[in-house]
Amino acid sequence: MSKDYKTIWNNCLRIIRDTLQNEQVYNTWFLPIVPVQLEDNVLTLQVPSPFFYEWLEEHYIDILKKTIRRELGPGGMLRYSVVVEQSIEGNPYKTLLPSSGRKAIHNMPKDIPININKDDIKELPNPFTIPGIQKIKIHSQLNENYTLENFVEGDCNRLARSAGYAVAENPGRTSFNPLLLYGNAGLGKTHLAHAIGIKTKENFPDKTVLYVTAEQFSQQFREAAANNNISDFMHFYEMIDVLIIDDIYFWENKVPKTQDAFFHIFNYLHQRNKQIIITSDKAPAELTGLEPRLMSRLKWGLSADLQVPNVETRIAILKQKLENDGIEMPYEVIEYIAYNINNNVRELEGALISLMAQSSLNKKQITLDLAKQMIDKFVKNTAREITIDYIQKVICDYFNLPIESIQSHTRKREIVQARQLAMYFAKKMTKSSLAIIGLQCGNKDHATVLHACKTVTNLTETDKKFRFWVEELEKKFKQ
Ligand code: ADP
Ligand code: MG
Repeated sequence: MSKDYKTIWNNCLRIIRDTLQNEQVYNTWFLPIVPVQLEDNVLTLQVPSPFFYEWLEEHYIDILKKTIRRELGPGGMLRYSVVVEQSIEGNPYKTLLPSSGRKAIHNMPKDIPININKDDIKELPNPFTIPGIQKIKIHSQLNENYTLENFVEGDCNRLARSAGYAVAENPGRTSFNPLLLYGNAGLGKTHLAHAIGIKTKENFPDKTVLYVTAEQFSQQFREAAANNNISDFMHFYEMIDVLIIDDIYFWENKVPKTQDAFFHIFNYLHQRNKQIIITSDKAPAELTGLEPRLMSRLKWGLSADLQVPNVETRIAILKQKLENDGIEMPYEVIEYIAYNINNNVRELEGALISLMAQSSLNKKQITLDLAKQMIDKFVKNTAREITIDYIQKVICDYFNLPIESIQSHTRKREIVQARQLAMYFAKKMTKSSLAIIGLQCGNKDHATVLHACKTVTNLTETDKKFRFWVEELEKKFKQ
């Protein structure tokens, strides 16, 4: 029989899957297990968390025991290892101390995970102790691509981003505790939350940072409750230095017990100057479905919103993504995407990726035409609304004027006309109010916009050349 631990574990998996006859259980509890070594007939399996380990012990020990013995023979033994920090370079098992405590399978409940790093034991004052675990390193669950450096700054996110920096410099000790990041979907809440976690880790490698979605948190809580493990659950969260809870709206109008548990964890951490970061797609005042006492806590710190990026920021985001991927694209194409996809960074990225995929699949160059075709398809489903920005851009391109001229105070006839046309089309093609249109077209008031609309209508009726322009522009907007 081959002694390759991977093969052995794969064989075990096959048997377990057949025996269980339950895909969901198999996927949840067995697929995440990673075999790490086989030595002296002891198979070491890495499990993602202490909860996981306990769950296996309680529910699946028999099947594990039987299967492993079947593969390794009656002397076969099993050892668990609870997951360690993945940021440790290369093989996480470098951090393992060799353990002498190998026990036969029937003793497994006491043969507890062994990821112990001597240094940690000294440094961390509050180790998570289920019997036998002196200290586990908690996997932060941070996505290393979501860095602060990759998070393009713009007016839309300046407050949130700089609050994030401040928190990462001094977690738990600024007045931004909790830090609540809110904003619509696809505007960067998750990215920024990870980024703060990553920066904190860079600044303070010894701090325990944990990113968890509100949904995962409540699921873990439910599992802990079902297993009478709530105190371990609480204990686990109490040892976190920087706790990031993503998408807290998930708890609205449900999971009162989860909210209750979080409330206690919140208090515990906050009293000890530990940092809490929360994201939400609603402003705090609108999160009415949360427990009132939890709500009141969320208002203690800073709420920073993420807004829709303006066109310059959208261009900067696209450029950065391209640069990161080492891809070049004509500037007019970047501009076209940025002007046309305007309310969601995730969609902006999606469009870019589709365009690159299109071009490589069909071996076509990325051109403005290709971008137009693709964006039309891409945006149809999301009901594209033309923006005032875009209207200004098309008009300025048409008359060959710099885009800034619309904002200027000049009374040059051609510029006044371009501005009036922008106001006219904005009124016609967007849902923006006269006040907003005025504001965006050179900081004018609503009366000026009304006047512009009338002027354009009149001129279209009386002036042939002007009518021609309006018709041409109309065609461009419909393209
Ligand atoms: P949310 O959590 O608010 O729904 P995400 O954080 O998932 O949004 O962001 C969606 C996508 O947009 C991610 O791929 C993220 O990297 C990207 N993104 C959002 N804002 C920025 C930004 N300012 N700079 C760079 N990328 C961004
Ligand atoms: Mg998110």
